[in-house]
Amino acid sequence: MSEKMITIVQLYSHDMNIYGDWGNVLTIMRRLEWHGYTPRLVEYNPGDAFPSEADIIIGGGGQDAGQDKIQADLQKISKTLHALADDNTPMLVICGLYQMFGKFFKTQDGHIIEGISLLDIETHAGSERLTGNIVTRSHLFGELIGYENHSGQTFLGNNVQPLGRVIKGAGNNGQDDSEGACFKNVIGSYLHGSVLPKNPALADHLIEKAVIRKYGEFTPTVIDDRFAELARAVALKRPR
Ligand code: GLN
Repeated sequence: MSEKMITIVQLYSHDMNIYGDWGNVLTIMRRLEWHGYTPRLVEYNPGDAFPSEADIIIGGGGQDAGQDKIQADLQKISKTLHALADDNTPMLVICGLYQMFGKFFKTQDGHIIEGISLLDIETHAGSERLTGNIVTRSHLFGELIGYENHSGQTFLGNNVQPLGRVIKGAGNNGQDDSEGACFKNVIGSYLHGSVLPKNPALADHLIEKAVIRKYGEFTPTVIDDRFAELARAVALKRPR
């Protein structure tokens, strides 16, 4: 085992972790090992002390009820998350937590779930759910493949860049072709699936940012991604 450790913090693993999002953590851990690092996983849930080490932050999606449940706690750790983002910590937040890293999510019944405004986005529930397989093109990572299921329609402000442009599916809002949002090393996206096993370029990007931030340099191993390639090929052929 390598002495070089990378700590992954999984936010709200009990309430915000659906449609296979847990696979993102497993992928980061396994690929870290392949690249020669020792992964350490810390799950963070409401009331926990925030871990003193956090090299990569991962968060998943959740029902509106799950978002309500973690809302107050997320506000408590908002300052810490902002400080980590300012210090270039890589983060990946999917769907429900993506929405809550923004300003707010206004639900179908009209109540506001407050976000932490780390991403310059806002989300309003639409009348139909945006559900199905999705493919986007990202200028950083090529084709990103996943699955989306959300009522929220997210609109980007001026201080974020979209992660990708929709090729098939709805993306942020079903209207402007954008999907996800990037700010510093923070990436938000609607792609479940889980997204990282099928999109190793995105996984390795998070790893590279974390390793460079902590150890100053990163020399990737060439990984045999045959199975990921096969999964991508199958997923690309699926109907919406
Ligand atoms: N509850 C949110 C919505 O419906 C997020 C859903 C999700 O995380 N999959 O938009």
